[in-house]
Amino acid sequence: MRDQIVAGNWKMNNDQNQTQTLLNVLKNHKKPENVRVMVAPAFTQLSQSVTLLEEDMISVASQNVNAEASGAYTGEVSVDMLKGVGVSTVILGHSERRSLYHENNTSLADKVNTTIEAGMEIIFCFGEQLEERKSNRHFEVVKEQLSEALFHLSAEVWSQIVLAYEPVWAIGTGETASPAQAQEMHAFIRNLIQDHYTADLAQKVAILYGGSVKPGNAQEIFSMEDVDGGLIGGASLNAEDFMSIVNAF
Ligand code: PEP
Repeated sequence: MRDQIVAGNWKMNNDQNQTQTLLNVLKNHKKPENVRVMVAPAFTQLSQSVTLLEEDMISVASQNVNAEASGAYTGEVSVDMLKGVGVSTVILGHSERRSLYHENNTSLADKVNTTIEAGMEIIFCFGEQLEERKSNRHFEVVKEQLSEALFHLSAEVWSQIVLAYEPVWAIGTGETASPAQAQEMHAFIRNLIQDHYTADLAQKVAILYGGSVKPGNAQEIFSMEDVDGGLIGGASLNAEDFMSIVNAF
């Protein structure tokens, strides 16, 4: 049985007070025992969030990390800094990091290596652009993203990897992949893992869907055989919406 996971990517939202308010509401909600729930606040709110959620089952993830251990990298944050404030999961490869900050499969492979070596968990994001889907290149693009950033890893460390398929055309646009489109891609991804590693590993890896998941569509998407949960952007900023998604399995 694979982990069922719902992770909220807060992006550059929620200051100190807003974080406290949102987390206190989330803490008071009853959560299903079989779903891992995570939130990914901004760097400045990580320590506060870990403290606030100390006795709750919600865990805290970071939205990024630098590939280097320390040094002259102004504005950056290292794996040890994250671990030092109690964070053990890192989101890597989000499409906004790829498009706005020029991250690519090669630079992401470096971040992946550093994060894995630090013993941390990765939520690895990838997905095709609209033009790539329109020209029927979405499978090829996803294969390349996974092969170049992850397939050098040994099978043993895949227990530290969660995948998040996020078609770029569905992120923050209100447009969602249909459940059938999500299932088709997730099954393709599982086959890639099976071909490169083993069928056993392919069955163990959790694959999340991300892209305009809302309370109204979460249940249908999560009911797909190869969809193990969601990475949620906009809807994770509203406690009621996020909890409704958490309860959508
Ligand atoms: C995201 O940014 O990872 C995301 C899925 O955003 P949204 O849910 O707002 O589309």
